[in-house]
Amino acid sequence: MSCKSVYFDHGATTFTRPEVLAEMLPYFGQMYGNPSSIYKLAKSSKYAIDNARSTIAELINADSKEIYFTGSGSEGDNWALKGVMYASTKGNHIITTSIEHHAILHTCKYLEKEGYKVTYLPVDEYGRVNPKDVEAAITDKTVLISVMFANNEIGTIQPIKEIGEIARRHGVYFHTDAVQAAGHIPIDVEDMNIDILTMSAHKFNGPKGVGALYIKKGVKMYNLIEGGSQERKRRAGTENVPGIVGMAKALKMSCEHMEEVNKNLIRMRDRIIKEVTENIPYVKLNGHPTQRLPGNVNLSFKYIEGESLLLFLDINNICASSGSACTSGSLDPSHVLLAIGLPHGIAHGSLRLSLGYENTDDDIDYLFTVLPGIVDRLRQMSPLYEEVLKGDKGE
Ligand SMILES: *Cc1c(COP(=O)(O)O)cnc(C)c1O
Repeated sequence: MSCKSVYFDHGATTFTRPEVLAEMLPYFGQMYGNPSSIYKLAKSSKYAIDNARSTIAELINADSKEIYFTGSGSEGDNWALKGVMYASTKGNHIITTSIEHHAILHTCKYLEKEGYKVTYLPVDEYGRVNPKDVEAAITDKTVLISVMFANNEIGTIQPIKEIGEIARRHGVYFHTDAVQAAGHIPIDVEDMNIDILTMSAHKFNGPKGVGALYIKKGVKMYNLIEGGSQERKRRAGTENVPGIVGMAKALKMSCEHMEEVNKNLIRMRDRIIKEVTENIPYVKLNGHPTQRLPGNVNLSFKYIEGESLLLFLDINNICASSGSACTSGSLDPSHVLLAIGLPHGIAHGSLRLSLGYENTDDDIDYLFTVLPGIVDRLRQMSPLYEEVLKGDKGE
């Protein structure tokens, strides 16, 4: 067995860049002051947070007063939805999509139990929302539209600017979960008419447990966390200073290298898609062929369980994800794959390979030395596949 190991699961999380870690370390060490204190030691922490806030604001074309640090992307999504709905006197209706991350979907379910109404828009076979559907779903009770920027499973990028325009025209707030987009594809909150936007540092080579919510000036929102007066009295809790510093550095570096990195990622992504679909039978690409995240590949292998595929890839030291939720104790395939119209059987045989800037063609070569054999072996064990083979011979 080879001792090579390859990480193709950047959609789940990424490692912290060494340059990012280096900037964080002093804030665990000699610069440990509480940013809310008044002595000099504290000022360096306060200054670091202010700096990080303006850096992040600038990178998405926001004002630094519009950036609020959080503890995760999930917190940002919860805050966006609950915060806007609880503060609204206008109505009780949210429009979202059926392919959102659970941080959005489960928050919507929670709000529905409290009496709020939620419309879950369908998507097309590529996972795209039709802006016309968004517009048609708006009623005089609609307060918020929440559509993710790019999907974490199939990588599909949504027509965010068009949806933003519709929201603006109808006087409805527009939130986007940009956790997969931030640091990976360009974001301009002004140009795209975005009112609220969620980010999370660990998805763009920053540290885990820190995120940010962009809240446009004037948007009325309830607080999720009460306490001290941190984050201009909107999100209490002593700031995660090293995390915040790391997040800003990571976003800055990701944005600086975005163009060159994406050129290479798109090339490698399309190489995997081409070689797999040409060399392995009964495979289908999920998601949009071009409007997709540069590092995202999502494939369905007929007559295979995604979980077994992952297990065999892991034996060969390849980290990836599947499209089923078996790991969480449920046998339901991914809600995203079902929403794009995959039958259960095919949705179960899905594999997500999400590439990052440190991946190379060597990693892909290695993938191809093991993947076809694994697929073949698993299919040999499938009674369904046996029938297909017999059927083929009979034709
Ligand atoms: C990872 C992810 C989240 C959750 O972010 P955490 O920081 O891990 O809580 C939310 N939405 C999307 C689209 C994600 O990919």
